[in-house]
Amino acid sequence: MPEIIKNYINGKWKESHSAHFLDVHDPATGQSIAKVPSGSAEDVTEAADAARKAWSEWRNKPATQRIQYLFKMKQILEGHADEIAKTCTTECGKTLSESKGEIVRAVENIEVACGIPKLLQSEFSEDIATGLDEFYIRQSLGVGACIAPFNFPVMIPFWFMPYAIACGNTYIIKPSEKVPMTMTLIFKLFEEVGLPEGVLNMVHGGKESVDAILENRLISAISFVGSTPVAKHIYQTGVANGKRVQAQGGAKNPVVIMPDADVETTVRIITDSAFGCAGQRCLAASIVIIVGNSEEKFTQKIINAAKERKTGCGLTPGTDIGPIISSESKQRIEKLIQKGVDDGAKLLLDGRKISIPGYEKGYFIGPTIFGSVDTKSELYKKEIFGPVVCIVNMRSLDDAIELINTGTYGNSACIFTRSGAAARKFRHDVMAGNVGINIGIAAPMAFFPFSGWKESFFGDLHGQSLHAVEFYTQTKVVIERWHDEWTRKF
Ligand code: NAD
Repeated sequence: MPEIIKNYINGKWKESHSAHFLDVHDPATGQSIAKVPSGSAEDVTEAADAARKAWSEWRNKPATQRIQYLFKMKQILEGHADEIAKTCTTECGKTLSESKGEIVRAVENIEVACGIPKLLQSEFSEDIATGLDEFYIRQSLGVGACIAPFNFPVMIPFWFMPYAIACGNTYIIKPSEKVPMTMTLIFKLFEEVGLPEGVLNMVHGGKESVDAILENRLISAISFVGSTPVAKHIYQTGVANGKRVQAQGGAKNPVVIMPDADVETTVRIITDSAFGCAGQRCLAASIVIIVGNSEEKFTQKIINAAKERKTGCGLTPGTDIGPIISSESKQRIEKLIQKGVDDGAKLLLDGRKISIPGYEKGYFIGPTIFGSVDTKSELYKKEIFGPVVCIVNMRSLDDAIELINTGTYGNSACIFTRSGAAARKFRHDVMAGNVGINIGIAAPMAFFPFSGWKESFFGDLHGQSLHAVEFYTQTKVVIERWHDEWTRKF
């Protein structure tokens, strides 16, 4: 009997008002493993009301007390990592070690947010005129909300939530309707944390719940992560409704290989980057730009390394590449591969028609590599979000940077080289928010912002670190004069 997913509102598990449910699938088997409500405006209203009510007291708790709850969250995530990873892998498909990796990233963000008493400190100027002092304080906004994508069911809400609540906000998480079980398990485990009712809430569903979040007057700030068209919609609508919005969008990340790059490490790192998480990672390398005449040196080696990756169920030991999230996504990716072939790109490795014994109904695509890709083609330009890599050749580093900078997205760009000068030029000139030098996945640690430029990000302040603290607080500037001090009569 599939689990019926419930919302968590005001410290209680509540059935959704929605009468419609969507199936949650195990992408390795194709089986329905849970039913998630399709979304309801009433659920969001209840959660926002509860969160707004809880805010009045929560904002007045000293930051040193608020972070005690975060310490408990960290212990719970670490103590239950195996159980959480298993659920994450079952509904999302990625391998167990990939699921564990995202738990580590979530914990890192909690750890950084535990520094809130220091991070919230402000500036103070004494005697801006005789007897007059000026300073600012950072105060919480009220109710915040995170709208999350499917591909990191654990980590992504933790780019925002720990900072938001540590700063004194109350919060609502809306997980992706494709992977609602992992956050549901985390909320069950977090009951032990003992947060006051209404401080942390969870509402499930898709568009209907999201639209209700965008319209709700009690919600002051929204952190979104997902595809670019939805990110744009969230940003535009949220801002028009007077909310603070940070919206991270899609990506098509290039990696540049210079002729002097170390062959073995470059090939290994790029293969990890492109095919890890089955390419369903917003920092995955999806375009490989080989500079100069080194194609022979690298292309065949990348193909060979890709062939060694084992595709299969994420729970099976030894699996490198898990399934694609849904059968619709699998079909969409396969169509894009076919379109690439029809448009004249050379299919060097075809991951379609892969069958995994015991998992014949799973949504698998193996590593797929294209050569001679036209940089004006759909294959080159469109985010595929699967284990598909396009290899192109450029004459010079300048040409490679120009090609990257004219692209739509700006989530990440990486370079592989032994030359400090080439790396420095790339770092300076390239128009991307996260840059890797001899790194395949340039994922910032929790004490740095998770950046993103162009159509990969809409807003001003990013997730993680001080950016998240600034996003979830507003500054109040105070100028003070005390009569006694002014007249010097005590
Ligand atoms: P998605 O845009 O389909 O969904 C993201 C969220 O938006 C979900 O919670 C979903 O319920 C909601 N949503 C979907 N369609 C909506 C609509 N029409 N109106 C309102 N809400 C809607 O994204 P996804 O498929 O879950 O995730 C994959 C995408 O996320 C990829 O494009 C990937 O690049 C991107 N992503 C980006 C980052 C980043 O840091 N920039 C990180 C992870 C994923």
